[in-house]
Amino acid sequence: MPSPEKSIAVSNVGKIRANNQDSGYVGRYLFVVADGMGGHAGGDVASAIAIHRISEIDKQYTSAHDAVFALQSALIAANSLLAETVFEHNELTGMGTTVSGILRVGHQIALAHIGDSRIYRFRGSKLEQISSDHTFVQRLVDSGRITPEEAAVHPRRSVLMRVLGDVDAAPEIDTQVLDTAPGDRWMICSDGLSSYVSDDKIEHVLASVSDTHEAADRLIKESLDAGAPDNVTVVLVDIDETTDSSHVPPLTVGSAASPLSFDSDSARRSLRLPTLLLHPLKATQPDPSHFEPESEDYLDELILEDRRRAKRRRITWLVAIGIAVLAIIAGVIVAYQWTQAHYYVGNDQGTVAIYRGVQQGIGPIQLSSVYKKTDIALDQLPAFNRQQVDATISASSLMLAQQIVDRLSDARTQ
Ligand code: CA
Repeated sequence: MPSPEKSIAVSNVGKIRANNQDSGYVGRYLFVVADGMGGHAGGDVASAIAIHRISEIDKQYTSAHDAVFALQSALIAANSLLAETVFEHNELTGMGTTVSGILRVGHQIALAHIGDSRIYRFRGSKLEQISSDHTFVQRLVDSGRITPEEAAVHPRRSVLMRVLGDVDAAPEIDTQVLDTAPGDRWMICSDGLSSYVSDDKIEHVLASVSDTHEAADRLIKESLDAGAPDNVTVVLVDIDETTDSSHVPPLTVGSAASPLSFDSDSARRSLRLPTLLLHPLKATQPDPSHFEPESEDYLDELILEDRRRAKRRRITWLVAIGIAVLAIIAGVIVAYQWTQAHYYVGNDQGTVAIYRGVQQGIGPIQLSSVYKKTDIALDQLPAFNRQQVDATISASSLMLAQQIVDRLSDARTQ
């Protein structure tokens, strides 16, 4: 019986995508997720190259500072490797990848992060997001231009501001050193999980499933149950009393687990990034793309475009509401006209009268009024006719109502 694994990586292509562009790695000290992108322009190649290069630094470090430096250097080296690969294989232009990685150094965690994959620390049944997304919408949230709630449903929520790739020779990488303690559970995931499964649900799974492998499988299943429009990768690392969280031998998942192939399907890669950039992303099936904004003007232009779209949506709603209100008014008018084509004979303060409309009202609203008074007093009528008039006598036309009145007049006893 093998002992329970202290760390695990699981990756799934999801329900919509044709290939898995995510890669994941769990080793002895190092744990990484990379989410490749560029639409059809080689995201699988990008994440695999990054994971292979970064996994070279999986060793014991004497200080967290050294570990951070090693991680950061590995990410920069991976970035250069991606640029070289694009230089040699032109058809891969525009490929890029997120990288979120942690190195365990005793009771500390060294972290390096770029893109929108996420690093979470689960401690004492609470889930805490450690990394922050390098996305267009996160930037709008940070600058106070939209709320986090608006960001969660924003049409451009998948657009990345920073990734590794062939765009920037010196990409800005977030680094951090955090403490860790036995009982902590670290999770790294691609947005295929975090965009479709709520933090509450993730927290619940991490709290209720103690086996790492089982917990990772459950998280993947949650994403699949949510439709899994994107590739989804989960790395889980449990911290115990020992100084490593080893997976020996190291485990690689996703596209990095297959041999690199550049030219197998060059037609598939013919779509270039710039054509992807200007298409609004579909809410149900985000097609992640990345770009480096040339200026704040460009950001402002994007914000204006979103506002224009929101305004168009508002106008469409107003028109729809207007049409609905008109339909209701037209219905009321038709119904009222129908009631006013009906008559009945009834008691108007002791005298027989012809009423126009129907006896039933709608709440306090009366749908009838006296149309014609007569000189027939109720107490001139036999008891039976009096009761009839009190209970009202319906007539489908004015002529029939008049005939009823004539009969009552004849029936007068005095
Ligand atoms: Ca993704």
